[in-house]
Amino acid sequence: MYSYDYDAVVYDGEVYCVECLPEGVDTDNPEVMPIFADSEWDYVPVCSICGAEHDYVTVIREEYTATTIQPQFKQVHPTDVVAEASIEPYRFSLGWDDDPYNTGYYLEWRYSDDDPDNANNYDGVPIGGVHGMPNWDQVAEAVNRVLG
Ligand SMILES: [Zn+2]
Repeated sequence: MYSYDYDAVVYDGEVYCVECLPEGVDTDNPEVMPIFADSEWDYVPVCSICGAEHDYVTVIREEYTATTIQPQFKQVHPTDVVAEASIEPYRFSLGWDDDPYNTGYYLEWRYSDDDPDNANNYDGVPIGGVHGMPNWDQVAEAVNRVLG
């Protein structure tokens, strides 16, 4: 696509495919703003009508830091998994292992649509920190690396 090409627009605060615009509204309407191919978004614009993902734009992903990764993780039932985060296309689990030979935090991840019961779907790294205080710098670094 050329930088001035577009398949989607913003109209009245919503994203639409050009073909999904409401009856009587077209791209000549001054309130219809094209989403150009060279525009930068921090997420993929999704059509509010048909759900099409317009990933032809440039999606800028912010690198996570210790401060910004922490709120992504939601506390889950206190089994061996301490907290989980859904950061598409992955699902991250922060766990605590109390095996006497291998005590500590670990971070595991799998693709969101992979079977959670299949251990082969998981990859993981150990995370430093004492119980109750995982090293969030390491978590952020691992997540950034996985997301690429
Ligand atoms: Zn659409």
